[in-house]
Amino acid sequence: MKFLRNLNKKEIVGKTCLLRVDLNIAEKEAKNSPRILGILATIEFLTNNGAKVVILSHRGRPKPVKRINPKSKILNPKEFSLKPFAKILSKLLKKPVHFIDFSKNWKEILATINGSKNNIFLLENLRFLAGEEKNDRKLAKQLARLGDFYVNDAFAVSHRNAASVSAITKFLPSYAGLLLEKEIKNLSVVMKNPKRPFVVILGGAKISDKIGLIKKFSAGERRADYFLIGGGIANNFLLAQSLPIGDSIFEESTVNFAKKMLKNKKVILPVDYAIENRKILDIGPNTIKMYSDIIKKAKTIIWNGPMGYFENPKFAKGSGEIAKAIISNKKAFSAIGGGETASIIHNSKFIIHNNIFVSTGGGAMLEYLAGKKLSGIEALK
Ligand code: ADP
Ligand code: MG
Repeated sequence: MKFLRNLNKKEIVGKTCLLRVDLNIAEKEAKNSPRILGILATIEFLTNNGAKVVILSHRGRPKPVKRINPKSKILNPKEFSLKPFAKILSKLLKKPVHFIDFSKNWKEILATINGSKNNIFLLENLRFLAGEEKNDRKLAKQLARLGDFYVNDAFAVSHRNAASVSAITKFLPSYAGLLLEKEIKNLSVVMKNPKRPFVVILGGAKISDKIGLIKKFSAGERRADYFLIGGGIANNFLLAQSLPIGDSIFEESTVNFAKKMLKNKKVILPVDYAIENRKILDIGPNTIKMYSDIIKKAKTIIWNGPMGYFENPKFAKGSGEIAKAIISNKKAFSAIGGGETASIIHNSKFIIHNNIFVSTGGGAMLEYLAGKKLSGIEALK
């Protein structure tokens, strides 16, 4: 894999870079979102070295059209347009960001980029085009004509086979951006011989997303010394023991997996809960104490998934206290990921030190740590 960092000015100046990022973020959270803040350095690196930058991203799941032409009616509901992000990026970068929508055809788009005095462009939501999610070669080729080289700085979508993530690398010299490089370097620390005790903390709503990671860290050199289970996924382990869970969330299809996992002595389950209206909504004080004591002694920590329904402040205590325990342990290397989990860390009042790595990936981080090959990263090789 080639890294953008290793390119020198001569190789960049006067060229146009297609930069794939992940702007799939709620607009009101954008200014503080690590996914946006994390790409600013890459954009600055490119423009400081004399390149034009065309930013590519998707947003949400709009209904796509087959191809762009002024007559094809793009179902363009405002909620999916990337237009507001041109302003947000412009403010953060303190430079103009020129938004390009799909009322133009490809030739006109290219002419706009080449003819403009601006250096930074944001192209409309690529998922308005049917080829994006199909990893379509034609769309990739079309996009590639807009630039001289390609940079992937979208770790969070690198597990998806999309035209602007995978296929495009066939048509242009391609590099990993500064943010993607940081993700790979930090997460591989955990992948190679984690220092012990090694603690994996898992919560959130869906255990099915996390089975690959649990398996990976259940045996071999990377086996975890403790799995601390919380959040909705703990309910599956209660069910597996035929314990009542009232109206709490669970996933029927994973009960057998949970049964098998119960035989693993490394799996630690909550001993008490916060319950309301027959629903388990957070871990209880004794569990917080028990988990915090284990976290204090850890040398490597992975955390994915909140310990409870933290959106309601009444049930945010478990997640908040686990965040506190992790951040207070300055001796451990901690990798934290997942959209919700990352926001808990960023909104906590604690100062995040150098040994804490907050990944911008949710699903991508889980797949990467589970040892799966991510198509977007493979495509760069
Ligand atoms: P992340 O985005 O960090 O990967 P997930 O998407 O796996 O996390 O799960 C986050 C969601 O899980 C949150 O919206 C949270 O409210 C929910 N959740 C966690 N524990 C519970 C619970 N006990 N009952 C209901 N929802 C829960
Ligand atoms: Mg989530």
